Amino acid sequence: MRNIILFGSPGAGKSTLVELLTEKNLPYSLISVGMILRDISKEDSELGNKVRETMAKGDLLDDFFITELVKKALREVDKSKSIILDGYPRSLGQVNIVDGIFKENQIDFPVLVYVKISKQEAIDRLSTRRVCSLCKENFQVYELENAEKCPKCGGKLIQREDDKPEAIEKRFELFDMQFKIIEEYFKSRNRFFEIDGTIPKPERVEELIKIIQG
Ligand SMILES: [Zn+2]
Repeated sequence: MRNIILFGSPGAGKSTLVELLTEKNLPYSLISVGMILRDISKEDSELGNKVRETMAKGDLLDDFFITELVKKALREVDKSKSIILDGYPRSLGQVNIVDGIFKENQIDFPVLVYVKISKQEAIDRLSTRRVCSLCKENFQVYELENAEKCPKCGGKLIQREDDKPEAIEKRFELFDMQFKIIEEYFKSRNRFFEIDGTIPKPERVEELIKIIQG
C-alpha cells in the first residue's frame, strides 16, 4: 500500500474523498493540517487566537509551527496503515522534512495525488458551503431546506471565515505558487498522480483506492 500526499486547491473536495475511503473500509491514517489547526483554533488560548486570526485572513501560519505539528502527528500515527497527508508538505523544504521523517521511521516516501478542479468550479463550491458549528458537517446551501440550521443535529450553520471571497482569492494565489513547485518535483520522480475532481464521487474514490493499492 502506498502512502500519499493529497493535494488540491481549496474546494477540490479532498476531505470528502477521505470520508468516502472510510465507507469503503480502506484502512488509513490521516494527518490533516486543516483539521489539526481547526481544533487548535477552538482553544481559548494565545495560540488558539493566533491560529484563528491567521486562518480568518486566509494567510499561512509559519513553516516551523506547522512542521512541529506534523512531526508530532507522524510520531503518534498508526504506521501499519496507508498514511494520508493533507495540507502538508507545501514547499520543497517541507518535502525534505517529510522525506527525513519517513526515512527515520522506515516508511515508504509518499506519492502525490493531485485532485484537479478549475478555479471557477472551486469558487462556486466554496461560496455555497456551510459548516455546522456543532457537529462540523459540511453542506451545500442548495441541499438545505433551512440554510441556517443543521439537518443532522440542529446546530447553527455558518460560513467558514476562509470561505469568504477575499480569503478564497488569497488561498488561490498561495495554492498556485505552491503547486507549481511541488508538481515539478513529484513529476520528475514519477510520483505524481492526478484525479479529475469533477467526475462523480464514487468514481473519484475508486481512482484514489487504485492509487493507494498501487
Ligand atoms: Zn450539526
